[in-house]
Amino acid sequence: MKFILASNNKGKLKEMQAIMSGLGYEVISQSEAGLDLDVEETGTTFEENAFLKSDAACKASGLPAVSDDSGLVVEALGGEPGVYSARYAGEDKTDHDRNMYLLKKMEGIENRKAKFVSAIVCVFPNGDKITAIGQCPGEIMHEERGENGFGYDPLFYMPEFGRTMAEISSEEKNKASHRARALQEFGKKLIEYLEIKEH
Ligand code: IMP
Repeated sequence: MKFILASNNKGKLKEMQAIMSGLGYEVISQSEAGLDLDVEETGTTFEENAFLKSDAACKASGLPAVSDDSGLVVEALGGEPGVYSARYAGEDKTDHDRNMYLLKKMEGIENRKAKFVSAIVCVFPNGDKITAIGQCPGEIMHEERGENGFGYDPLFYMPEFGRTMAEISSEEKNKASHRARALQEFGKKLIEYLEIKEH
């Protein structure tokens, strides 16, 4: 069975391709499939936004489509930046700008609890849908630390490693991250779904 990966983010494509092909499924990116989709993320949850991206790619290609929507959820900020993680601090800003903006918002706040969340949604041409959610708990630092990864990684302290997400290796991140956890769960659900369909 062939799947479309409905994302233009190279880092995400690599992680998702590795897991899906490990399970024996053929995956192609939406650009490889000749699709030029720019879906507006108008949902209020990660799951809704992932569904919008996968649904559009599935309808345009006629193939099952899978995508991830993810972000940072900070407890003391009522869940911000959440689904606005990529756009926090405004348009045309860098990861560093967003990190500085978050630190400013966290000034004087003692509760630094946060989590990364990833929702993976796969939509099939017959309308069936598989959803998997992965979470990774952590704390917001008082300054950036580390050079690896992307986005909010330098501010995200992981107690299980005693380091930030930007200080652990990509191998470590690919095992422990929210996206890795969602992908593992998605892999299990996909196998179950396809086994039921085949019998
Ligand atoms: P999306 O591409 O709409 O899912 O936006 C996700 C945004 O959440 C990214 O642009 C980052 O700001 C943030 N984010 C998601 N996953 C990670 C991660 O693994 N590390 C750091 N930031 C992340």
